[in-house]
Amino acid sequence: MLGDGIIGHERQKKLLQKSLDRNRVPSAYLFCGPEEIGKKLLALNFLKFFFCRGNKGCGACVNCKKMEQGNHPDLFCLSGHAGPIKIDELRLIQKHLRFHPFEAPRKVCLIDDADRMTAAAQSAFLKTLEEPSASTLFILVSGKADLLLPTIRSRCQTVNFGRIPREMITLCLIRQHGMEEAEARVVAAVANGSLAKALKEDRELYISDRIKLIEDVDALPDAADNVLPHLQLAQRLSEKKGSQEARLELLQLYFRDVLFLLEGRTEADLINIDLVDIIRRRAERETSDSVLARLEALRETGLALAGNANLRLTLDVLLMRLSRPADHAGGQFSISTNGKVQ
Ligand SMILES: [Zn+2]
Repeated sequence: MLGDGIIGHERQKKLLQKSLDRNRVPSAYLFCGPEEIGKKLLALNFLKFFFCRGNKGCGACVNCKKMEQGNHPDLFCLSGHAGPIKIDELRLIQKHLRFHPFEAPRKVCLIDDADRMTAAAQSAFLKTLEEPSASTLFILVSGKADLLLPTIRSRCQTVNFGRIPREMITLCLIRQHGMEEAEARVVAAVANGSLAKALKEDRELYISDRIKLIEDVDALPDAADNVLPHLQLAQRLSEKKGSQEARLELLQLYFRDVLFLLEGRTEADLINIDLVDIIRRRAERETSDSVLARLEALRETGLALAGNANLRLTLDVLLMRLSRPADHAGGQFSISTNGKVQ
């Protein structure tokens, strides 16, 4: 089947299969949707079926073999760009199209991250699109399709992609990549609908570091009594390598779990399933309002750090806000002249 081995995107797979079955493949597709969710992967898989002599992606014919080896002469793939796609590269595409297809039904150009085309490159590309030929097919892949000229978009058949559901990524990480369930759940949650991102995530951060981080934050006393543990933990965290943003995200997932329990959801809905005891104990001393205030504190911290605020000081304040008693969780902080936090 088309799309076998690629998780999610069932509606898109059916749509592409239908266009093959009915022999109604347009002259241009625009595959758009969030980054790193498998759009290009599915485009290449579709092309294998399109090129295959029997349209079945048999894996045995010359077209399938060349597609699998990544060297089909009728496919021009513009991919892996970090910077802008300039007009010179568009000229290479035009050159590729000048010849008739060797073995495939059409000459194909796949442009990944098509939104990286400069204005001049887009204008040149538009001219190519405006002269449709029965023997060419373009596939534009884009995570930011609104950066493409409306006249380019309107000449393509758009295939919209969404994020892959979290449960699906979790299952894939467990079954196909051998992750433990607890690890898979957290990684899938942070990956935000992208399997590629899930596979790239730093495992150590999400397993041992996550547990230590949550335990440390959970053990903090009320800052009004003693502020030293907060300052020490902020110091340790600020010296740690790796993404502070990822740590904030882990704390957000933890407090989200606490909120879920308070709102009557079951333990099966939790992301940190290996920390159920800590989450349950925390829920006993929180209210929904206090957890929302802590989530807000985490959100504000993320914004402050993105705006280059002082890391150490921002973490000091965050840890104090996360450990205030539930009935004061939403309050503001001030530090009195004797150094006490109020
Ligand atoms: Zn084949």
